[in-house]
Amino acid sequence: MNLGAQLKTSTASSAYQPIIGLEVHVELKTNSKMFCGCAATYFGEKPNTHTCPVCLGLPGALPVPNKKAIEWCIKIALSLNCKINEFSKFDRKNYFYPDLAKGYQISQYDLPFGHEGFIEVLKENGSKKVKKIRIRRVHMEEDTGKLTHANVSGENVSLIDFNRSGVPLVEIVTEPDFENEFQVVQYLQKLQKIVRYLGVSNADMEKGDMRLEPNISLQKEGETELPPYKVEVKNINSFRFVEKAIVYEMERQAKLLDKNETPAQETRGWNETKNATVSQRSKEEAHDYRYFPEPDIPPITTTVSEIAAFLSQVGELPDEKQARFEKTYGLSSYDAEILTREKEMADFFDKAVEDGKKHDVTPKEIANTIINKKIDTSTVKPAAVIKIVVEGKKKDEMDPAELASIITIVLSENTKAVEDYKAGKENVIMFLLGMVMRKAGKKLDAQEVKNAILKALK
Ligand code: ZN
Ligand code: MN
Repeated sequence: MNLGAQLKTSTASSAYQPIIGLEVHVELKTNSKMFCGCAATYFGEKPNTHTCPVCLGLPGALPVPNKKAIEWCIKIALSLNCKINEFSKFDRKNYFYPDLAKGYQISQYDLPFGHEGFIEVLKENGSKKVKKIRIRRVHMEEDTGKLTHANVSGENVSLIDFNRSGVPLVEIVTEPDFENEFQVVQYLQKLQKIVRYLGVSNADMEKGDMRLEPNISLQKEGETELPPYKVEVKNINSFRFVEKAIVYEMERQAKLLDKNETPAQETRGWNETKNATVSQRSKEEAHDYRYFPEPDIPPITTTVSEIAAFLSQVGELPDEKQARFEKTYGLSSYDAEILTREKEMADFFDKAVEDGKKHDVTPKEIANTIINKKIDTSTVKPAAVIKIVVEGKKKDEMDPAELASIITIVLSENTKAVEDYKAGKENVIMFLLGMVMRKAGKKLDAQEVKNAILKALK
């Protein structure tokens, strides 16, 4: 559904072009945290059990960067067609919040690991036209602690769990290139698939592995300069809510602009129960954070040959895989999309095709069986699927005389259908075919049975 297009016609006085950008935080599933040896798992764990002086921000504790996390961040950047900075560094982003024990977050400012990449999406729903979404930067940082607002013994309190503090986080920032919410959702689906293919994140939205922050403004039709304001919606945890928040903002801002007002530059939140965005605070600029180089971590160099090695390890990505499934296996784009949604499924399919060759089973037959029979590929082997296809194609044998007598009975029981057929209604043959098959109680070759019926009708 393209609500953007609907909006254009629904907003009263003038038309606006939405200018949408996106910031996504993806949590990596490394064993340990970004700058210390604590376990990086926190979901469902007892609060404050995975902590140490580093991730609690105690005085004198020194951070040591997680090599694996940096490698994975670079692989994400490469998968998003980014250039990689051979010379990179960490910076301190200073701000106060109770979930940030140090008073700053270790992040990256001017030299992120990746920059200037892109993802391609379809311009409109059902369109074949492609829109290139430019990626400004892919950088590495650490997650904060988790605040929970609760009522304890009748008192409203805020509880803090530092298990999440210091978990490796990759931030992916686009240019404001999205023209509608349909492009945003496609981008998010592709990004989610890519990090899962790489095996670097579960990207499970419900667990907070992937957090989404769209920024939206409206440009008056005919204007070329970017709008003088930008509204950011923070920490959304579902694609559906991102879509809703964008549509809501487009409508809210259009109403203000219609009245010749400029929407405030601010950060808003998505309120699920109100189905609306709500104002949280005025938006900060980069200079508010007083970024400066992290003095406790030496700059990181990644050589050209290391980058080449990472690239070779990236492997076939979802879009390439889907294209290959269509081209090499002759699948429809619909089937190919389903079968490449998860890497495990795609690998299973490749293996099944290989196995199927020995049994005259085509990729299309395998695809149909997996999709239509909803095969759980995590519990069966590819060979089992081939067996299902082969069994399904096997026809029962029947003595021609026996078949002929069944046909005679069916024709005598369905005189009306026989008359209709003789009067020229040739489709009736399919009805008779069904009746004979049912009476025979066997899986016969449809073409043979049809021929036998035609013979009997003459
Ligand atoms: Zn720690
Ligand atoms: Mn961030």
